[in-house]
Amino acid sequence: MPFVEKERYRISTRCRLHPDNDVYRDQEQHKFHKDTNEWKCGYCKKKFYEEKYLDRHFDNRHYNLLNESHGQCLADLCGALHCDLVLDIVQRKTKCNPAAAARNKHLCEVSLAHSCFPVNEGPSAGRLHELFLRQFCDAHTCTGNQKPFSRGHRKRLSIPYLAISILTLLLLPLVYLFVYLYQRGIKRGSQELKRISLSGRKKKSY
Ligand SMILES: [Zn+2]
Repeated sequence: MPFVEKERYRISTRCRLHPDNDVYRDQEQHKFHKDTNEWKCGYCKKKFYEEKYLDRHFDNRHYNLLNESHGQCLADLCGALHCDLVLDIVQRKTKCNPAAAARNKHLCEVSLAHSCFPVNEGPSAGRLHELFLRQFCDAHTCTGNQKPFSRGHRKRLSIPYLAISILTLLLLPLVYLFVYLYQRGIKRGSQELKRISLSGRKKKSY
């Protein structure tokens, strides 16, 4: 997680995102992809044609090496971590379920943000806590079209556009009014001039 490294923050083992808490981390580290059709088991050096056979081999032969003491599979947290967006699952096209969104938001806040970045552990934890809530947890909503990792670039762009369009809408009637008054002023001015010249002539004729 680059934003955690940037703050030089050490995630506690209570956090489910801590590498030690990933059941399959050790197995993944013993997976060697030698060639397109060659996968090697890091424990016993046995070779396989496909990754799924190696996974099956891990399940059959090395299940005792699973880091099960205090770990949980990260995939369990998929709902809270927006894997669906990353993996581009068809789920995205289906209608948003408000109850599921609320549940994921709660899971995101309680089991991730609060336990990984406890606010009482100093300013960097507080900053990360806030960042995590805004970047990941807030996106669990059906109302907005917020997406994680967006960093608000679009928002910053749309504000000037919005301001310009509102200003144009407000200025347009003013411009028309000005033009109308200006033209009426000219007309009236010329009419007064006519009147003056007419009365002038009338006076002269008397
Ligand atoms: Zn093996």
